[in-house]
Amino acid sequence: MSCIFCKIAQKEIPSDIVYEDEEIVCFRDLEPQAPVHVLIIPKKHYESLDSVTESGEDKELLGHLMAKVHVIAARLGLENGYRLVNNCGEDGMQTVKHLHFHLLGGRQMGWPPG
Ligand code: AMP
Repeated sequence: MSCIFCKIAQKEIPSDIVYEDEEIVCFRDLEPQAPVHVLIIPKKHYESLDSVTESGEDKELLGHLMAKVHVIAARLGLENGYRLVNNCGEDGMQTVKHLHFHLLGGRQMGWPPG
C-alpha cells in the first residue's frame, strides 16, 4: 500500500489524530493554512471525489463523513464557523490522491479562494 493517507488511517505512519471512528479519520494537516486545519478522510481508499459512486455503500460512507463535520468542528472549538474544502483533480490542485476534506477555521476566511 503506497497511499500516505491509507498509511495514516492504518497507523503505519504517525499523525495528530483529533477524531476517529469505524469509517473515518480526522488528523491535523502538516502545513496548516489556518489556526485550525484538519483533514477528514474515509478509511476506505477513494482516489478523489470522482471515484465516489451512487452505490449505497458510498452514499452511506460519505453521508456519515458529512454528518460528522460539525461534530469535529465543535470538538475543535469552531463555534464561529468554518470552511470545508475538497480539492479534486489537477485543476482542483489535489496533491494527495486519497479523498480528503480540509476543515479550516479559527480565522475569517477570504473569498474567492485562489
Ligand atoms: P490537497 O492539496 O487537497 O491534496 O491536500 C493535501 C494536504 O495534505 C496538504 O494540505 C498537505 O499539507 C497535507 N499532508 C500531506 N501529507 C501529510 C501528512 N503526512 N500528514 C498530514 N497532512 C499531510
